[in-house]
Amino acid sequence: MVSDFLRERYARLFGEGFLRHLKDPVRPALRVNTLRTDEGTLVERLRDKGFRLEKVPWTGCGYWIESSPFSPGATTEYLLGHYLLQDPASQYACETLGPRKDDLVLDMAAAPGGKTTHLAQLLEGTGTVVALDISRQRMRSLRSNLSRMGVENCLAFRMDARDAGELGLEFDRVLLDAPCTGTGTAFKNPEALEKDEKDLEKTVPLQLELIKAGAGVLKKGGTLLYCTCSFLPEEGEMVVARAVGEHGLEILDIGEGEPGLSSPYGMELPEEVERTRRFFPHRHGTQGFYMARLRKV
Ligand code: SAM
Repeated sequence: MVSDFLRERYARLFGEGFLRHLKDPVRPALRVNTLRTDEGTLVERLRDKGFRLEKVPWTGCGYWIESSPFSPGATTEYLLGHYLLQDPASQYACETLGPRKDDLVLDMAAAPGGKTTHLAQLLEGTGTVVALDISRQRMRSLRSNLSRMGVENCLAFRMDARDAGELGLEFDRVLLDAPCTGTGTAFKNPEALEKDEKDLEKTVPLQLELIKAGAGVLKKGGTLLYCTCSFLPEEGEMVVARAVGEHGLEILDIGEGEPGLSSPYGMELPEEVERTRRFFPHRHGTQGFYMARLRKV
């Protein structure tokens, strides 16, 4: 079931024991939507309905759902947009990007809008989030999430984010939640176990082009957050190391997570890639996730 390619890669990167954890269950999590409600009210309402929740200590308003009497996507509060089901590492990505009031923020690969709606929430209704995605179908989900979550400070366009320069705008913050192999989501998507080098041949060139476009529209001194739900350094540290060398970016520290790999497969990447962060299902209670916080110098 696990492709030979991944089996070999994972053993070299993380040791043989890692394979055992690939299908470990990961608790679902929610993010309180403070555009619609406040944390105390929502938590009380869900606990009254029989939800058992545990606060994620390193996110602003994320909770793991320990158990619930029925599907967490079938409550009145969910339909009213009081919360979104969202992995804690994804929540942490937007918080790490750190949009400030009145910022102009670009979300380059936005649909279905988990992170777009969070960025809008962090802006507290000020500034603007420009949300791009290439997929017509996924844009529909994005628009419906914007409306359910009460987001009013977002402009959403279906377009190829490699053409972001055509917008003629410079952004304070850029989020690139890059299309990737999704190998970090094997616990819920078994097909993620079957990925191999052919998949990387599609994702990596696109990631390199997207990060170049993102750096191109970022203001000097502005911040770009690059992330993927992949365990593979080909889509993480190796993309970031190239982007830093080619597009005038520097790597900033991130608090939570484990250091990025500076010598994957025995390669020599710049030591600063250790400032980037990795998240693991069996250690952080999240999907497999990678993030890098980059500043344009
Ligand atoms: N950020 C989203 C969220 O948190 O809900 C998830 C984004 S998903 C990881 C990657 C997205 O990239 C997909 O929706 C896909 O349609 C989009 N995509 C792929 N190629 C793209 C391109 N060239 N320009 C813009 N979006 C692209």
